[in-house]
Amino acid sequence: MTVLRLQLAPQPSPVEPYAALLDGLLDSAWLVDGTSRCILAVNKAAHQMLGLKPEQMVGQAVETLVSTPEDAMFWLEAASSTAASLNSDTLMRHADGQMLWVTRRISYVALNSKAAGMASSVYGAEPAGYWLVVIRDQSRQRQSEEEREALVAELQATLESTADGILVTDLAGRMRSFNKRFASLWGIPADLLQERNDEAVQTWMRRSVLDGKIYAQRLDAIEEAPLLQSSDVITLTDGRVLERVSLPQFSRGRAVGRVYSFRDLSEKLAASQRIDELAHSDMLTGLPNRRALAERVDYAQAMARRESIPFALLSVDLDRFQQINETLGHSYGDRVLKEVAERLKSCLREVDTVARLSGDEFALLIHQADVRGAENAARRVQEAMSRPFSFDTLSFTVTCSTGIALFPGDGGTAEELMASAERAMHWVKESGRGTFHFHRPRKDVDLLSRMRLDHAMRQALQEGQFRLHFQPQIALGSGQVIGAEALIRWRDPLRGEISPGEFIPVAEESGFVVAIGEWVLRQAVEQAATWLRQGRTMPVAVNVSAMQFQQSQFVDSVAAVLKSSGLPPALLELELTESILLRDAEEALLRLQALAELGVTMSIDDFGTGYSSLGYLKRFPIQRLKIDRSFVQGLPGDSSDAAIVNAIIQMGQALRLQVIAEGVETEAQREFLLRAGCHEFQGFLFAPALDPRAFEERVWRRSPETPVRSVGMHFLGGLLV
Ligand code: C2E
Ligand code: CA
Ligand code: CA
Repeated sequence: MTVLRLQLAPQPSPVEPYAALLDGLLDSAWLVDGTSRCILAVNKAAHQMLGLKPEQMVGQAVETLVSTPEDAMFWLEAASSTAASLNSDTLMRHADGQMLWVTRRISYVALNSKAAGMASSVYGAEPAGYWLVVIRDQSRQRQSEEEREALVAELQATLESTADGILVTDLAGRMRSFNKRFASLWGIPADLLQERNDEAVQTWMRRSVLDGKIYAQRLDAIEEAPLLQSSDVITLTDGRVLERVSLPQFSRGRAVGRVYSFRDLSEKLAASQRIDELAHSDMLTGLPNRRALAERVDYAQAMARRESIPFALLSVDLDRFQQINETLGHSYGDRVLKEVAERLKSCLREVDTVARLSGDEFALLIHQADVRGAENAARRVQEAMSRPFSFDTLSFTVTCSTGIALFPGDGGTAEELMASAERAMHWVKESGRGTFHFHRPRKDVDLLSRMRLDHAMRQALQEGQFRLHFQPQIALGSGQVIGAEALIRWRDPLRGEISPGEFIPVAEESGFVVAIGEWVLRQAVEQAATWLRQGRTMPVAVNVSAMQFQQSQFVDSVAAVLKSSGLPPALLELELTESILLRDAEEALLRLQALAELGVTMSIDDFGTGYSSLGYLKRFPIQRLKIDRSFVQGLPGDSSDAAIVNAIIQMGQALRLQVIAEGVETEAQREFLLRAGCHEFQGFLFAPALDPRAFEERVWRRSPETPVRSVGMHFLGGLLV
């Protein structure tokens, strides 16, 4: 080979005419002499591809540049057969050391020996054997293929890593990809998926849902509208509930398909039902509790009004139960209470209700009962209780005192009725116990005092006797003040300080609460705006009454107040109650959406005391749940309260809502809430509602570094979520 190079180098290349031809090719091309296997000519693309100068290639033995066993075999074969050819992928080294993926094709070319000019002169008479090596650089293509593969693998991993089931279809509804969770949520047999049998999979899904017809109709509607975003709840035949969200999938600005995600809501629903159960029943006896009773009384009232049939509410309190507890111990006392619950139940019909209100205090709701019916029930109770109780070797009697209230004579609301029954029961206690007594109606007096109160309120608003106080809300983790709830205060010159718990219900009855609510809203927003002008970011929360929320101009008035004060809407939170949201859910939803568009934050006040239905929590644009004071009270000792609070916090977390607890009075309560994962609290432990001056003093003056800024940041963080 060395000899050949020496011989060839000084001569003008005999293949020069072909070199020009090679230069015209896009791919690298070498012309190789069959006998010596030396490269006779290369084109520009060839030396560019390998980063070699032409003189580093021409004259070189071809195997020094491609020296795989495959090439060696080829050249061996080529020595004896011009039919040999090679066409495959291999690796070549660039001058800079990098390996290149190439496809190279080697084929025989019978060149005109005169034109080639060299074979006869140098090698005698043998026909010239030339081989053309054409090489195409595949590195870039390989690289993009690898990148694409990596991307696909990444996407697949992303798909698999979400907790949701994902299905991607094209516009015609054909399946394009899915993840394992999708298959497992729907329980789709593996063979259907492997076969990619779209129709069978669709049929399977349709058969798995409770209402296949509606499901199919809805799916058709979704498929017909390629740009539609949808969110549905689907109940499966096995009882599970799935949420289906679908979004159009775009490519280069055009809808090309659709992504469905499925999520199992069953656990969350179970949690919300559990909250409901816990919130409405007494743990010890399993009887409905005070809250559940109030709801049933409300219902009974609606029925009684419609059908003009009275009903009775009995307050039953055990006599000297404390002695049993003290002498025999609490667990013994618990057994007695359970037995009492059973006996009371046995006195009633299925439709009636026995509730345990607290300790040894029970209540009976007797439907369709007048004076005679109520009296009969009370006698049955006395009788049932008169039988001796015997546990273990001990036998004793327990008596009870019963007060009776009748609807409508003794009260128009559940609370009033209960209060009447309890007054009558106390009267029995005072006059010797062990029997029953009817309440003596004082209804007209109550009505009169309510009318007086209403009148006084109207004057108070005109004369500016209302004030607004602010109760700090604190982040449990950092201890920073992150907001304030506005609470109305009223000092009447004659009556002294009157609690909103007393006058707000009266204002709600008369409708005057709308005027009060507007005053509070404006006052609170103006205060927050004043603070903001002073460089203090302090979101304020305002209580909204049902009647206020239902005013057709409510959203407009919120917008107007914000505009005139210049307060950023995100610094205003509206505290709504569950009943507001339930009353006219569709209308409420529209209103909430309008408020959300304004940028106002919304929370659910007194959460847990109504029907904690997950449905509305999911649908409504709310940001916060407020655990009612009555659940916080019993923390950490009361196991029922603890269970409810935990359930609410977990539900809040699952729905990505902030959870705030109100009425926190002790360090032990705060600690419990912190540990349970609650985000914020308010309560006497930190401060009661304070007038603006005292609020500033407490929040900003006392610790000058109580960072307004970090309050702002927290708040901004909330906004970003
Ligand atoms: P709410 O919205 O549940 O307000 C919380 C109540 O708990 C307030 O009573 C507050 O002072 C009290 N509180 C706060 N921390 C503690 C604590 O640690 N322990 C205890 N025991 N209580 C605490 P307040 O101010 O008497 O208000 C009673 C209710 O009156 C409010 O309950 C709300 O339903 C209504 N209300 C108050 N202000 C307004 C208002 O401006 N508009 C409307 N519509 N209702 C209002
Ligand atoms: Ca509130
Ligand atoms: Ca509350």
